[in-house]
Amino acid sequence: VDILRTRPSWIAIDSEAIQENARIIMQYTGAKRLIGVVKANGYGFGAVATVKALYEIGVRDFAVATIAEAAILRQEVTYDDFQILLLGVQDVAFVDIMVAYHLSPAVGDLSWLQQAVKLIPEGKVLEVQLAIDTGMGRMGAHSQSQVKEMYEFIQSSDKLQLMGAFTHFATADDNNQSYYDHQVENFYKWVHGANIPEKYWHLANSGSALWHKKEINIHTIRVGSVLYGYNPGAPERDMPIKLKSVLSLKSRIGFVHELQAGESVSYGATYTAERPQWVATLPIGYADGYLRRMTGMRVLIAGHVEHVIGRVTMDQIVISLDKKYPVNTEVTLIGQDGDEEITLEEFAEYAKTIPHEISTTFSSRLPRIYN
Ligand code: PLP
Repeated sequence: VDILRTRPSWIAIDSEAIQENARIIMQYTGAKRLIGVVKANGYGFGAVATVKALYEIGVRDFAVATIAEAAILRQEVTYDDFQILLLGVQDVAFVDIMVAYHLSPAVGDLSWLQQAVKLIPEGKVLEVQLAIDTGMGRMGAHSQSQVKEMYEFIQSSDKLQLMGAFTHFATADDNNQSYYDHQVENFYKWVHGANIPEKYWHLANSGSALWHKKEINIHTIRVGSVLYGYNPGAPERDMPIKLKSVLSLKSRIGFVHELQAGESVSYGATYTAERPQWVATLPIGYADGYLRRMTGMRVLIAGHVEHVIGRVTMDQIVISLDKKYPVNTEVTLIGQDGDEEITLEEFAEYAKTIPHEISTTFSSRLPRIYN
């Protein structure tokens, strides 16, 4: 028995929908290659399962943020003929671990490379990704001369092998086209100036793949959100294509009772019944990532809409009911039930944040069930 399943609240993930979304975005952009971004446990959707699903359809490149995330993939995914790009800044002291796990760190300054070559074990090679900061302002070579000197250093060392040269967009998800164009221009100017061949380039995140220049997308796209089936620009931008929904958040009624007029629910007694009313308690709360600010949010039961009433607590919420339902009745918190659907985007908008923050906030206490 999976001990996590003793608590009937769970995230259901449709792995085939992830595969389908990869196909849809490749077709839409015309990209030759896709790097699957699976950092933060695959945005909360499950990194190992996402890698396996994408590997099945031919994807061989993945990106995470930390060495520990990459090590989990190397340990839990049995095939090893795939590349793992480390997007975050890494301490050069851990170069031996990067070599041992066959990881490609994003490197943004020459001194890092100079120190690394001294630390790479004899006879070993570190595969590196040249990070170019064209306007994101987080990390990377920030001028044509910096890009050139790093590229030349990598080329001249037999301990370093270039795997990619990339940049990341700051405004691809919103309407700021001129800032985006400025980043593309910088990238082209600097990589051409340094003579870095096109086969190494990867620029497009999901926002770029969806809403921007086709010609930069045909190299390699480096995407997360679209794989997981949601709109990264929500609620401001509309989707130009239809993706498959991947995630559902479900729970089962644990306790049902009838409030009498004047009786209240949960901490602070903020909700009071005006007349006799059936309500149900679900075993999910803010410790699972069902945020405290979700009071009043829609939920679906038997194909119709009810609401979270009273305060969300650490482990439990209370919902309104139209009538008495049996214990164990399934309730949909995100996903489809009959003709009704609550999307991750709607959930995020209600929480006044973006879908990425919601999916990465679902805690490990919620089992992930894969189809
Ligand atoms: N590339 C880098 C460097 C990132 O940090 C991220 C995610 O934040 C991505 C690509 C993927 O972004 P998205 O989920 O918008 O596709």
